[in-house]
Amino acid sequence: MSRFLGKAAAALAPYTPGEQPRDKSYIKLNTNESPYPPAPGVAQAVVGFDAEELRLYPDPEVTALRHAMAQCHGLAPEQVFVGGGSDEVLGYIFMAFFDKGDKVYFPDITYGFYQVYAQLCGLEAVRLPLREDYSLDPADYRGLDGHIVVANPNAPTGMALTVAQVEELLRANPGRLVVVDEAYVDFSDGRSAVPLIQRYDNLLVVQTYSKSRALAGMRIGSGLGQKPLVAALERIKYSFNPYNLDRLSIAVGIAAAEDDSYLCQTVERITATRERTACALEELGFQVLPSEANFLFARHPALGGFALYERLKAAGILVRQFSQRRIKDFVRISIGTPEEMEQLLTTLRRIL
Ligand SMILES: *Cc1c(COP(=O)(O)O)cnc(C)c1O
Repeated sequence: MSRFLGKAAAALAPYTPGEQPRDKSYIKLNTNESPYPPAPGVAQAVVGFDAEELRLYPDPEVTALRHAMAQCHGLAPEQVFVGGGSDEVLGYIFMAFFDKGDKVYFPDITYGFYQVYAQLCGLEAVRLPLREDYSLDPADYRGLDGHIVVANPNAPTGMALTVAQVEELLRANPGRLVVVDEAYVDFSDGRSAVPLIQRYDNLLVVQTYSKSRALAGMRIGSGLGQKPLVAALERIKYSFNPYNLDRLSIAVGIAAAEDDSYLCQTVERITATRERTACALEELGFQVLPSEANFLFARHPALGGFALYERLKAAGILVRQFSQRRIKDFVRISIGTPEEMEQLLTTLRRIL
């Protein structure tokens, strides 16, 4: 490591992204990307994009995309913050609302980035254990002395709180900000907390176009909440990266936002494949957690998580595996096309 590295940066344990191998072509079921292309309007927006426009800075207020997103959610444009992927939005949230030394609460098993940001911002991260069955007990989050971040549906379990349970968190912590990361909510059965925004000034919802809208390669995310929360995120953005969304991302984002019927269609295909795959895995002896996301979290009594991961990789199929003690026997399998899942099942039958 460089001898110029600062102490804080040296102490960091950076997030490890899923593998994006280039050595051969794999069936890629490891990073929850969509198996389907983005909405047809996206290709048109890219082809029709005038490169000469890149001479000019993009709109720092991201007005047109904010309007399009606001329309999707029935919100005012001032209730929408747009970021370069939801990871950036989460980063801005940590910078805007959490002070050094503050406590931030999240489950022991959840998206790894929360821990990294907490460390980066000098916060005290408190990890509340999920129940034995990996569900979150809202009672554990009553009257906390710190901020709260939950992914709903959770990653990597795929399990989700109901809207009523999210509301319980909000009511039990009126003086605290509750951040709900809804990266996978489009694959769930009506679990979005967005309808609660008008009634709770302590709710900030984070969403992304990377998963259900098939735009992981473009980096578009949002923060949805009452106006003062969005204004606070704007303060950080204008102190950090005022032009955080480039012109092409804005054009592509608008095209994706405007095609709700394509979104519904692909989400339906993916959730149908998820349900069929879950049944087939159970028939093979897997325990599969109930998923409201575009992936399944499953374990087999005969083979540990790492062994499964390695055998599948050798067979040309990538899944994600985690080393954390409570979940080391699981693999996380993104939902691909029906053909890809059929290949996965055939391979598993052979391995087992
Ligand atoms: C994938 C994911 C994100 C990040 O999404 P980007 O918008 O691509 O940055 C955020 N939170 C969770 C829980 C995720 O799984």
